[in-house]
Amino acid sequence: MSLYPMKFLPLFKHKVWGGNRIQALGFNYSPLPNCGELWALSSVAGSESVVSNGFLADNTLNEVLEIYMGELVGERNYLRFGNNFPLLVKLIDAADKLSIQVHPDDELARRRGMENGKTEMWYILEADADATLVDGFRQDLDRDVYCQALESGRLESLLHVEHPQQGDVYFIPAGRVHALGGGLLLAEIQQNSDCTYRIYDYNRPDRDGRLRELHTEEALDAIEFSAVRDGRTPYTYSDNATARLVQCPHFTASLIPLCSTAANPTASLRKNFARLDSFIIYFCVEGVAAVRALDTVCPLHAGECVLVPAVADEVELYAEGAAKLLEVYIDPAQYGDEELRHKDDMDWVARFMDDGLQDEELFDGGDGRHRHE
Ligand SMILES: [Zn+2]
Repeated sequence: MSLYPMKFLPLFKHKVWGGNRIQALGFNYSPLPNCGELWALSSVAGSESVVSNGFLADNTLNEVLEIYMGELVGERNYLRFGNNFPLLVKLIDAADKLSIQVHPDDELARRRGMENGKTEMWYILEADADATLVDGFRQDLDRDVYCQALESGRLESLLHVEHPQQGDVYFIPAGRVHALGGGLLLAEIQQNSDCTYRIYDYNRPDRDGRLRELHTEEALDAIEFSAVRDGRTPYTYSDNATARLVQCPHFTASLIPLCSTAANPTASLRKNFARLDSFIIYFCVEGVAAVRALDTVCPLHAGECVLVPAVADEVELYAEGAAKLLEVYIDPAQYGDEELRHKDDMDWVARFMDDGLQDEELFDGGDGRHRHE
């Protein structure tokens, strides 16, 4: 049986700062009192997305990845990420402000025993008129100035505050101090990591009256102390075309607005990916659309995503009326061979396949499949 574009069951997360905008999009998260995050695509342990369509239904993303490997994520991406699906896709309803936080980069995360750090991107679906977010510092700082401000309760005066509007995009590289203010609904694309260092939480008690734990020390080595002038990512777009938002080694993200006209009542866009060896995620952020690939059509409404396997060469996108899709993949041309951290595992598998079961030395010494370490 061969792969096809997959949809997944949404995972709902209750948060102290969550609201009810996700319900307004048509999702039912009862019995949760609110929903701060909808995880649309995740392989984080304990929160693994489950396929909802086709013959792979009821399998987790991780199970599908272990079986199909490079056919799902791309051959080179598989050598880089192994059985860790590289991205996490969420919808976030920040009714109240979130803590001020930072994520480590890959190098620091690995020194601390994690698989990778976290670079992320936000696309704003809805913003109240007075909504704000924090994106870095207002001025260049050094560690001492930062530590003094934090200790004396003046951190907020150092932060660069933005006033986001619908359609705005923010790219938050690992190391940048950031926070969402209240009154925002957004799509978040990020490296698959659950590592967050909380720096400041407005001295706000949780439901049990306790202050949430801070990670002041761990955060220090992660923080990039230079100023951010304008955090917004500029882009221009036109209907039924692909507008590039972000391109980096962690992901490439674009916005695709689909809009029908009298002459073209069903808006469509056909794309050829024969030269791209990567999965492609389509995350619907507005309206209703459909994604066709490998002879399967997946309808999508806002907040839903589809994962198109790397083996698909052609994708066709449709909408009746107006819709917007985020398109996300990992382009192997954006990173070097030094990133291929799971290559040795695959060399071992290749040797095993070539040599067959006679090659008993592979099993000698009890070091098994990690003999390369
Ligand atoms: Zn973050």
